Amino acid sequence: MEGFLSNIQKFSLHDGPGIRTVVFFKGCPLSCLWCSNPETREPGGSVLRDTARCVRCLRCVEVCPAGAIKDDLSVNRGACTACGSCVRECPQKALSINGRRRSLEETLRICLQDRPFYEESGGGVTLSGGEVLTQRRFARELLEALRREGIHTALETTGYAPPGVFWQTAEPADLLLFDIKHYDRDRHFSGTGVYNDLILDNLKTVLAARKAVLPRLPVIPGFNDSLMDALGFSRLLQSLGLKQAQLLPFHQFGEKKYEMLGLPYPLRGVPQLHREDMEEYRQVFIDHGIDCFFEREEQTAVSAVG
Ligand code: SF4
Ligand code: SF4
Repeated sequence: MEGFLSNIQKFSLHDGPGIRTVVFFKGCPLSCLWCSNPETREPGGSVLRDTARCVRCLRCVEVCPAGAIKDDLSVNRGACTACGSCVRECPQKALSINGRRRSLEETLRICLQDRPFYEESGGGVTLSGGEVLTQRRFARELLEALRREGIHTALETTGYAPPGVFWQTAEPADLLLFDIKHYDRDRHFSGTGVYNDLILDNLKTVLAARKAVLPRLPVIPGFNDSLMDALGFSRLLQSLGLKQAQLLPFHQFGEKKYEMLGLPYPLRGVPQLHREDMEEYRQVFIDHGIDCFFEREEQTAVSAVG
C-alpha cells in the first residue's frame, strides 16, 4: 500500500503532545482562504518555482513532455504528471516538486526512527495535511501499524468526509486535533468553500465515542476574529460539552508558497495576529468555562467531554 505525501517532518513541537513526527498528506477538499500549506491541497505532485532564482530561460518549457508549462511559466496542473524532467533540467535549480509516493512500510520505518524521542517526551506521530481523510485506507493502515508498535498517534483533521469514512479513519487515532473554522454555516462556506454540517456531525460522533479531541480554532482577520465570533465559538463548544480549545492566530508563513505555486493568495498583506492582542478574545472562552490557550506542553491532557 502507498500514500501520496507532501512531507514527513521530524521533531515537531506544535502538532500534539511531546516531540512528534508529522506525516503531511497530499489532497484537501477545502479551500481555506488563509491556508498556510497550499502545496498540500492538490492530490498529486505540485511544481514550485523559486522566482528569485529563475532567469526565465524557458528550458523547462522545452523539456516538459506533457506541455504543462506555458511560456509565461505558469503550470497547467491538470496536465502535469510530476515526472520531474523540468526539475532536473533547470540550470538554476529553481524548480522542485512537492509530493511523492511512499509505501506504508517506508513511512512506518521513518516514523519509528524517533521512538526514543517519543518515549522521552511523551510524543508520537501526527497525521496531517492537506486532509488525511482523502487517503483514508493508507491513513488507517498507518495508524493501526503505529498502534501495534505502541506509538501515540494524533490525527489533525478538518473533519470533512462522509460519516462512515470519517469514523473508519479516525477510530484508531489516540487524539483528534479537530479544526473548527467557523461556527456559522454560511460563513464557514465563505471562508472554506464547504458548509460545516458534515464537520459538526463527525465531531459529535467522535465525542459520543468519547475519543480524546482537542478543538483547534484558526483565528483569521475579518473572518472569525471579532468578540462576537469568540462568543459564537464559545456557545458552540459549550453545546458540544467541550471544555478545551486551542487558538491558532493567523500568520503569513505560507505567503511565499503561493508565489512559488503561481496561485493567487487572497490574504496577501493582511497583518498577522499576535497572542498579546487576543487576550480579550480568549477571555470570552474562559468566561464560558472553556480552557482556552494558544499553545502549551500539556496538550496530552485533552478530554473530550466535560
Ligand atoms: S528552467 Fe528554471 S530558470 Fe529556466 S525558466 Fe524554467 S524555472 Fe526558470
Ligand atoms: S514535472 Fe514533468 S509534467 Fe510536470 S511540469 Fe515538470 S516536466 Fe512537465
